Order: sequence, then structure tokens, then C-alpha cells
Amino acid sequence: MASDNKKHTVTHETIKRLDHAHLWHPFTPMQLWFEDDPVVIVSATGHDLIDDNGTHYLDGVSSLWCNVHGHNRPELNAAITNQLQQVAHTTLLGLTNVPAVLLAERLSSLVPAGLTRVFYSDAGATAVEAALKMALQFWQLSGRPSKTRFGSLVDAYHGDTLGAVGVGYADTFHRFYRTVLPDTLRLTPPHLLRWRNHLSQTEALEQAIAEATLNISEQADTLAAIIVEPLMQGAAGMWPHQPTYLRALRDITKKTNVLLIADEVATGFGRTGSMFACEQADITPDLLCLAKGITGGYLPLAATVATDEIHAAFLGSPQEGKTFFHGHTYTGNPLACAAALASLDLFISDQTLEKLGPKIANLTQQLDHHIRPLPHVADVRQCGVMIGIELAADTKTRTPYETSERMGAQVCLEARHRGVIIRPLGDVVVLMPPLSIHHSEIDRLMSVVRDAIVAVTSGDRT
Ligand SMILES: *Cc1c(COP(=O)(O)O)cnc(C)c1O
Repeated sequence: MASDNKKHTVTHETIKRLDHAHLWHPFTPMQLWFEDDPVVIVSATGHDLIDDNGTHYLDGVSSLWCNVHGHNRPELNAAITNQLQQVAHTTLLGLTNVPAVLLAERLSSLVPAGLTRVFYSDAGATAVEAALKMALQFWQLSGRPSKTRFGSLVDAYHGDTLGAVGVGYADTFHRFYRTVLPDTLRLTPPHLLRWRNHLSQTEALEQAIAEATLNISEQADTLAAIIVEPLMQGAAGMWPHQPTYLRALRDITKKTNVLLIADEVATGFGRTGSMFACEQADITPDLLCLAKGITGGYLPLAATVATDEIHAAFLGSPQEGKTFFHGHTYTGNPLACAAALASLDLFISDQTLEKLGPKIANLTQQLDHHIRPLPHVADVRQCGVMIGIELAADTKTRTPYETSERMGAQVCLEARHRGVIIRPLGDVVVLMPPLSIHHSEIDRLMSVVRDAIVAVTSGDRT
């Protein structure tokens, strides 16, 4: 085996052998993985990932929903290397550091008004865990000890740690852990009501609001918080809801004295067209979870942002025992915070959000023209640059394909052969390009996805 500083001489065959011998890939059926030749990414530039053969692939899912401004951006690289000259890591337990403070201030000015207090961690799941524990402790400290349960939407996804799984739950992902999960109120989102009960969009919205109102009101005495992915339930298969539904959840929770946690891990940092999805419903949650796009997709960092009111409940002399005893070793990592600050600067200098509107419109138009009319496309769902294309064996009766056919995965493999990296959620093909994607790359993405769907659904694969 060559030494580390000669890694360029390591052959593809060696990497493949060592990967197969020692790596356990996330969300990956490993037996199937061993049958394939892995794509080994060695570098990236702009919106392209480059493998060890020199083949370029368009990054059609933003390296799992996190890349914002493209890869290898000189501004982000410089921010990280400059910070690296100062210090790579130092703890926030009993000390503070410059990038963590400056980022907390920047975030407070960007998030919905009223959210002022930033608690750092390293992943979406940990941002959610912190929010859940803050909510539980908040009610205990406020003299309401019966408020110990959570409510969430059916098929919500909030991460893979046990607390987050408890409010999330998807059978395929989580059935082995069911016995240790707490009893959680499940609210049916409009999207599900619509298709399950064959309702119009308006009827589904009304029923979903009625269901939420009834259940939250009846159970408010035991509910600490409702957690929701605002505007788009991502991992459920890209299930959108209207801002009205989100606003209704805010109104009901306020009226019944239940906290609202907005999980903007996926939707935050421009993904829905505005900086945060909550803005489109004009709401401020009590707790806001941020991760994925926070560093522009460069380094692991997450934040749970709380209101003054929540934070104030934790104040008191140490003997009162109100402290939030929670944290992680790498909390507020200076390199990650420096990358996040530079990413926020790029939002301004690149005019990222200003340029996003026309790109979203372009995506909508091309989806309508090239994807929606395909014979096996049952539904196309879009919120900003978050897109789900649902495949079905029969679109009229919405009869799904056999799971064993792995149609979503097949389409993504076909797209990869044509130079585009995307990933499915079951038979929903997910597209989530970086916000900085060019219009010409949108054209390429759409034509490859169309060709891949046609090739796989007509049995005419390359
Ligand atoms: C991805 C995701 C998470 C989990 O984030 P990780 O960084 O993977 O732990 C939580 N909530 C939502 C809405 C997500 O999309």
C-alpha cells in the first residue's frame, strides 16, 4: 500500500478492494454494493464531480442536499484555510471562538424575527435532538411536567439518531427500533390525505388543518412540541404542503401552548426559493433546526436556534439546576463556522437568491414539458429547487412498480451512465441541484433525467 502522500498512485482496483473490505456505506444495501464497480470521486469543480477516470458527473442532488454555491469555490476554500492558520478546533465548553460568535450573530439577523439564540452541533439529527431536549426541559422548567410528548407529520424525516427517529418514522428505515420509540402524535399532511382519499387540493388542506386542530387541542396537556419540515417533507418522497398549512400549525400550537419546531435542515439556505421556508408562511417557530446547507455543503455543522423566551427559562444560579446539559465535542468548530460565514457572504456577492427565481421557473417549465408527459411519471412535485418525480407502473390507477424492480435506483444508475449523479427515494427520483447551477446545466439535467426515465421504463437501457 502506497503511503498517504502518494495517494494518487493508488489504483482504482486497490480502492475498490479496500472499500469492499472495510467500508460500511450509509443507507446502502451492502450486498448489492459489492456487485458493482464503485464510482470513486477524487475531485470536483463547479457543479461537476470528477472520478478517478477523469469522468465528469453533474451533481444533481447537491451531494445529498447540502451543496449551495458549487464545489471548490475559491472563497470558501480561502475562508477555511485562513481559519486553519489560526486554529482548527477549540471547545465552546467554557471558552468561545471568533467564527462561532460572528456566525451566531449573522444567523440571528437572517432567521425569522424572534429567534435569537444559536446552539451549535454537527448534523441535522443532532440539531433536532437538541431542539427536542430543549422543548422537554423548557416545559419542566416552566412548571408543566406533563408536557413530555411530541407530534409530527406522517412519514416525516428528522434524522437517524433515536430521538429524531422517534418523531420521524418510516417503516423501511426504522422498523427494527420501533419498540424503543416513544408514543408520538402523527398528523396526516395534506399531500397524503389528497391521494389517499382522492380529494382536491383545497379539500385536503381543509381536512389536514381540521385533523391537526382537533388532535393538538385534545392532547395539548401532554404535548411538548410539534415538529415539522416546513413546506416540503423531503425524505418522505418530496411531499409539499402550502404555506397555509404551516401557518395553521403555528396558529394552533400558539393557541394551545405547544411549541413549534421547524426542521429546516433540508429547506434552509435557499432551497425553497427563500432563505428559509418559514418566511413563505410568515411564521416564527419557537425552535429552528439548521444543517445541510449551512456551510455551503463544505463541512459538518448544525444549529438549533431558539427564541429569547425559551432560552430565558434555562437561566438561574447553577444550584437551581436549570442548565442545558447537552453538547458535542466539536460544537461550534471554527473551521466549519468560518465556512458558514463565507457561504453567507457568497449569498450576497453572488446574488444567489435573486438569481434563483428564474432558475426555479426554468425547472418548472422543463418539468412540465419534458417529464410530466412521460407515460410512467405519476406525479411531479417541486418546491424551489427541491424536486420529486414519482414513477408508477400505471399512472392512471397509481399502481406502483414492484419494489424488487428498484425502478428509482435503475433510473439513477441510467442517469449516471449519462453523466448525472442523482439519488432516488424509492420510486421517487429526486433532483436537487446546487443553487448556483447554470441554466445550461438545468437543460442537461432535464434531458438526461428524461432519457433515463424513458430508457428504464421502456426497458431500453444502455
Ligand atoms: C437530512 C435531514 C435531517 C438529518 O440531517 P443529518 O445531517 O443527515 O443528520 C434532518 N431533517 C431533515 C428535514 C433532513 O432532510
